[in-house]
Amino acid sequence: MHEPQNIEEISSIVADALSGGTRLEIIGGGTRVDFGAPGRAAALLSLKAFSGIIEYDPAELVLTARAGTTLAELNAAVAAKNQGFAFEPWGAEGSTIGGIIAGGVAGARRVSAGSVRDHLLGFEAVSGRGEPFRAGAKVVKNVTGYDLPKLLCGSWGRLAVMTEVTLKLLPRPPERLTLLWRGLADEAGFALMREAMRQPADVAAASHLPGQATFIRLDGFGPSVAARRALLTAALSRYGAPEALGEPEAAFLWAACQGGAALPPEPPLWRLSLPPRQALAAITPLAELGGHYVADWAGGLIWLALAGHEETIRTQAEIAGGHATLARAPAEMRARIPALHPQLPTIEALSRRVRRAFDPLCVFETNRFLDAANAD
Ligand SMILES: Cc1cc2nc3c(=O)[nH]c(=O)nc-3n(C[C@H](O)[C@H](O)[C@H](O)COP(=O)(O)OP(=O)(O)OC[C@H]3O[C@@H](n4cnc5c(N)ncnc54)[C@H](O)[C@@H]3O)c2cc1C
Repeated sequence: MHEPQNIEEISSIVADALSGGTRLEIIGGGTRVDFGAPGRAAALLSLKAFSGIIEYDPAELVLTARAGTTLAELNAAVAAKNQGFAFEPWGAEGSTIGGIIAGGVAGARRVSAGSVRDHLLGFEAVSGRGEPFRAGAKVVKNVTGYDLPKLLCGSWGRLAVMTEVTLKLLPRPPERLTLLWRGLADEAGFALMREAMRQPADVAAASHLPGQATFIRLDGFGPSVAARRALLTAALSRYGAPEALGEPEAAFLWAACQGGAALPPEPPLWRLSLPPRQALAAITPLAELGGHYVADWAGGLIWLALAGHEETIRTQAEIAGGHATLARAPAEMRARIPALHPQLPTIEALSRRVRRAFDPLCVFETNRFLDAANAD
């Protein structure tokens, strides 16, 4: 494993790989090495030494950190100033901010606050040519050039090695209120989430645990939260009166949705990204096949635990206008099923052209996504 200490060392590792014809897999915390095809022929390039906050200006709500800094360290630093990341990043212990950006990870509040790509202001990286470059800025107002930060979000280590990132922050809401409806049928639960999002009540998050609970969250100042609670309770009265949940229980419920934590751990885990209006129609046949699921983002994100039926899962997602990612599965299954939803040929051709612009000789193409044939 390579553990470069500075940008020059990353550049020379990439240059050596280019001349030796070897591939490199970028690793942050390494908590997701089991994502995608197993047995990849690549040397690991760890960002372990790229750790620590470089600049944090609470008054400007902007933070710059090395890409290998753990999420835990960042969350602790910003919480101490009563601030946080609005997209609510999450991950196993040891997850780094580089891994979170490369995975395009966001939590429950994504439905109202946007995803990581809406909060990454700038970055510094080394390309597949071994060249260091910067994009974006360290300030919120910046309008020049291509929006490369958006491209790096969800790039899964295939475009460049991020070494430093700058993110926007938000003040932590002084109050968080979770409203809970118990035992609604799925149809009512999905309808409630959509209706809640349509109300002028600034709902922060909305989730549904089938057969158990449907819950929404209001963030903000006390009087505003109280007024919005009253508005929602009246507007959604046909679903019954909600309970207001206190914080330890509420946190437990929201965590149960994250990464499908509430689901049985044995079957393969899928992550379906769907238009909320189509979500229930897409998921119902999969539940009838024995699937268990949780719905987040008002139905826009479904974590599904279901053994077999891979083609049906992908077809259902496509019919609904979404896509299905194989989030967790045994090695045998990951060796034959691509983790990412296959793209339309035109989109795939475009993605490939973008990848070749950053990485012309495929040094970051490790066949993780079973598309080695498309790498050239
Ligand atoms: C579909 C999906 C499923 C998920 N499933 C889980 C789960 O089951 N459990 C869980 O805890 N979290 C899960 N997450 C959350 C998320 O993947 C992790 O919290 C986060 O990505 C891990 O950070 P890491 O540093 O350990 O990443 P790593 O495992 O080190 O890397 C993750 C990806 O990011 C790339 N990468 C890492 N650092 C950099 C960098 N500096 N520059 C460029 N690329 C980089 C890697 O090449 C790799 O492709 C999931 C997210 C998604 C989108």
